[in-house]
Amino acid sequence: MNYLRIPHSLYRAVIAHCRQEAPKEACGLVAGKSGKALYVLPMPNVAANPERHFLVDREEQQSAFRFMAEKGWELLCIYHSHPTAPPIPSTGDIAQAYYHNALYLIVGLRVPIKPDVRLYRFVKQTRRMVAVRLIVQQPGQPKRSHNRESIGYILWGCSLR
Ligand SMILES: [Zn+2]
Repeated sequence: MNYLRIPHSLYRAVIAHCRQEAPKEACGLVAGKSGKALYVLPMPNVAANPERHFLVDREEQQSAFRFMAEKGWELLCIYHSHPTAPPIPSTGDIAQAYYHNALYLIVGLRVPIKPDVRLYRFVKQTRRMVAVRLIVQQPGQPKRSHNRESIGYILWGCSLR
């Protein structure tokens, strides 16, 4: 999948979780189907140095995977925050990108009221993260079947409150 379509309410939930955990890095999973986010699962960050790294708790992750399987959802995206750094994947982020079918969302909180949000796909061959589209669906926007892009608008690392 080269994009993630996320309802505004879930997008806000991700940002709220990241702000709440600062100055620690927050992390969590986004579940859904066919590139459309349906559910956000905040995960505890059990890294030894949570201000600079994130590590999803193994048991929590396994129960999240079971929950997603029961619902018939896929893991679409793994998110985490950079409380003081720009939303650029660190070497650690790239080294722990184990889920090659999932996308990686990073919430940069250098300016907490103006989160800088970027979405990436991990490319196995080159071991690099490439930016992909994050589509935040605004509430109450009419759906037009002839133009799928009209459902949401494209967010390229800009900010929403
Ligand atoms: Zn990171």
